[in-house]
Amino acid sequence: MKLATKLIHAGQEPDPSTGAIMTPIYQTSTYVQEAPGVNKGYEYARSQNPTRKALEECLAAIENGAFGLSFGSGVAATDTVMKLLRPGDEVIAADDMYGGTYRLFTKIYEPMGVRFHFVNMGNPENIRPLINANTKLVWTESPTNPLMSITDIAAVAAICKENKILLTVDNTFATPWLQNPLDLGADIVLHSGTKYLGGHSDLIHGCLMMNDPELREKLYFIQKSCGAVPGPMDCFLVLRGLKTLHVRMKAHCENGRTIAHYLRNHPKVGHVYWPGFEDHPNHDIAKMQMRDFGGMMSFILTDASGEAARRFLTGTHLFALAESLGGVESLVNHPASMTHASIPKAERDRIGVVEGLIRLSVGIEDVEDLIADLDAALNKV
Ligand SMILES: *Cc1c(COP(=O)(O)O)cnc(C)c1O
Repeated sequence: MKLATKLIHAGQEPDPSTGAIMTPIYQTSTYVQEAPGVNKGYEYARSQNPTRKALEECLAAIENGAFGLSFGSGVAATDTVMKLLRPGDEVIAADDMYGGTYRLFTKIYEPMGVRFHFVNMGNPENIRPLINANTKLVWTESPTNPLMSITDIAAVAAICKENKILLTVDNTFATPWLQNPLDLGADIVLHSGTKYLGGHSDLIHGCLMMNDPELREKLYFIQKSCGAVPGPMDCFLVLRGLKTLHVRMKAHCENGRTIAHYLRNHPKVGHVYWPGFEDHPNHDIAKMQMRDFGGMMSFILTDASGEAARRFLTGTHLFALAESLGGVESLVNHPASMTHASIPKAERDRIGVVEGLIRLSVGIEDVEDLIADLDAALNKV
């Protein structure tokens, strides 16, 4: 089956009891047993739920994985991977990534004795000097949040395989429509389903996909033991969102391309971070591992002050000033004070998440209206 068909059908059969074509929301905590231990495969809803099961099968299929696990949020999925580790273990992570992941690593797991090395993953060779006998996990995003750097996933996966290190790729920005990290050699793919998979800014959800059955068992055991499960209503909403992922992503990519070029040609805009530009440092790798370049981008005004950025951020109407991304509606965000505020300022400045940086999640409204909105805001700067 091709991806567009899997998005609509994978894991979903008409409900056997009624024929309902849409997977019902099994809003139940427990399941009646015929005799002790005799049941229909469901015992208690922290462990199993039919709506969640349909979603997990669909999620596995769209990332070309054997297994999917579905969580109450993206960070709950990240937390579950981190619980594979023990004090003394070391992690090599991208130095440009989601602020909440950085916070979980440095504020929760570092004090518990896990050691982190943050490197620029734009060059996979940066990983090698940090590998030692304690290195258990490499963590990267591509494109990264918010600077849109590209990691050569196949090259990083090769280094990880050579050294028997687990590789997790956060594929939230790209979505399974644009990129499939398991096919490139990653061990675990993570998504914040809150973003493009749900696609309508109406839920919080996360997921992990993988091929190794032993790894699946370990992660499922942690989830069952620690309880980071999604509710059936949210699973239903993600299933519904997935049915249009391909249609939405085509529109996000098309609008994203038009707006990236518009910004780049605007006299009040300085650098635009978007992997679709031929002079993006890893454009060739992006072209190789992605089907298109998506609707996320960041830029700096020619007046790179925080004050100019603030005037722009309060000057848009259609682009709503909000955290999050990947919904049908366009959003604008100030990483330094919003999504990435949990990263210390010195570290933010070092990697380029400066006061003047603005991030856009380009939605699927009419692109002429979006450009008129950006134009009006730029005129106020
Ligand atoms: C939002 C996000 C997360 C965290 O997901 P939640 O659903 O908010 O918990 C992780 N990674 C990336 C890239 C994100 O954008």
